[in-house]
Amino acid sequence: MSPNSLNLNTLNEADAAAFAQHLNGIYEHSPWVGERAAALRPFASLHALKHALVSAVRQASRDEQLALIRAHPELAGKAMVAKSLTAESTHEQSTAGLTHCSPEEFAHLQQLNADYNARFGWPFILAVRGPRGVGLSRQEIISTFERRLHGSAAFEFAEVRRNIHRIAEIRLNDKFGHTPLQGQQVWDWAEALAQHSEVEGALTVTYLTEPHRACAKQLADWMRDDCGFDRVDIDAVGNVVGVYDGQTADAPRLLTGSHYDTVRNGGKYDGRLGILVPMAVVRALKASGTRLPYALEVVGFSEEEGQRYKATFLGSSALTGQFDARWLDQQDAQGIPLREAMRRAGLCVDDIPQLRRDASRYLGFVEVHIEQGPVLNALDLPLGVVTSINGSVRFMCEAIGQACHAGTTPMGQRQDAAAAVAELILALEKRAAQVRDLVGTVGMLEVPQGSINVVPGRCRFSLDIRATTDAARDACVADMREHITRISEARGVHIQLEETMRASAAPSHPTWQAHWEAAVAALGLPVHRMPSGAGHDAMTLHTVMPQAMLFVRGLNAGISHNPLESITADDADLAVQAFHHLLATVATTAAQGT
Ligand SMILES: [Zn+2]
Repeated sequence: MSPNSLNLNTLNEADAAAFAQHLNGIYEHSPWVGERAAALRPFASLHALKHALVSAVRQASRDEQLALIRAHPELAGKAMVAKSLTAESTHEQSTAGLTHCSPEEFAHLQQLNADYNARFGWPFILAVRGPRGVGLSRQEIISTFERRLHGSAAFEFAEVRRNIHRIAEIRLNDKFGHTPLQGQQVWDWAEALAQHSEVEGALTVTYLTEPHRACAKQLADWMRDDCGFDRVDIDAVGNVVGVYDGQTADAPRLLTGSHYDTVRNGGKYDGRLGILVPMAVVRALKASGTRLPYALEVVGFSEEEGQRYKATFLGSSALTGQFDARWLDQQDAQGIPLREAMRRAGLCVDDIPQLRRDASRYLGFVEVHIEQGPVLNALDLPLGVVTSINGSVRFMCEAIGQACHAGTTPMGQRQDAAAAVAELILALEKRAAQVRDLVGTVGMLEVPQGSINVVPGRCRFSLDIRATTDAARDACVADMREHITRISEARGVHIQLEETMRASAAPSHPTWQAHWEAAVAALGLPVHRMPSGAGHDAMTLHTVMPQAMLFVRGLNAGISHNPLESITADDADLAVQAFHHLLATVATTAAQGT
């Protein structure tokens, strides 16, 4: 921190006018944001201050929010050219290289500015210093601009506000001389790990391919050389396992981790964040010479996504003794059996049973994961505490009616298979919306060999239902079966269901969920509890030990399984700090023998 930096004491003790003055320039030409946040003092942390400022904007009227948005200059706009920007904006736009646009780029940006303004009635706003805080490239800025030009007005109104908060966060960091060092470390590791991919220009890392094994080696090297784990190993299913010893050799262990494989054309943080955050934690523990009364075991699970082989959770299931030997005969798209892929990767299939952990030696399992949804992003909250991983069930289904001439068959004399499914989809949508955190989706829908002039005789579709409890899920399934009976009878269509997957809900263990909640609260942030709609490695570990998860906000409306998946270094830093806090809590309770 430089000697001129602002600090919390100064802010907490200043009178209201001086407080607002200190925060001048954080929110462009809008001192009212700071004025309103003043009432929420004292702030326990910089994050609490940031959150108070965000809340002041959230609680403002739409007109006030619009005025705040319109107080921002255009990117590479007339104000930049005329050098009439605020000092903060000038710094940001020149750091992003916008002052050095080629004439073509400059003309393109002017056109985008004009189109955007005509469409939405406010200037395009982007935190050009980006998620790492060091500046987006001109190409990144232009492609983001082009993409967002096609968004809806409601989405853009929210997205410009989120960018304003990100701009404010970076300006505050500057003012406070604060650098989220551990978050930047996590962010840089994620970036470096994403260099390994099966596809040029996109991120695809599936089980035991060369890039997959390169990722494992990279993680192991970092764990050993950069972080100071005591033992690092790549096990018989390709998991990267790092152990940071406790104070004694017989100390119990806390297990954590997530997966490093990706979906095809996936994001850089899905899974990986849950390996890199505890790695940053161990790095800090080692650097300060801290040993905990328990050992920390960090696992980079080799496979979770089920991309190359049908089986999923190959990595974590080996730890719980649920690795099914029959999976070894599954073949990938090239016809390579899993057993052969493992042999080629130098893995010893016979050793898999020995990977099973003795759960009595473990305190529990915690997992940090990017949210992969829009909830935290919409709430402007960096962290969320998971209450339960949703139970799910999937069916592949087919409706069979009667194909007939679309011109000659009167409406009342049809057995239209697609119309029956359409009715079922609407019934599902209505039924799922009645129960909080219950979701139902028909993601696949087709009329096989359909024709424009033929009433659909068949319709194939999928059904995916998830809920926070198995009972809520099963009640929805039972209701859908009733709808199917009713629709079938009314329409003379036969609908058959084949269950293809069923996973139990994994509620977080109350004690471990409370540890995460305490960690988030200690950062000065509100505790937001939420279910996980997606499955995670914690579901597997749930079968043998207590577990709880922490979610980290994703940018770009939380999009995941997509190259746009993104987090900020600041949010990653908060996850690292929350993890440190959880470890301290566990150390205290372990010392008390509870
Ligand atoms: Zn994941």
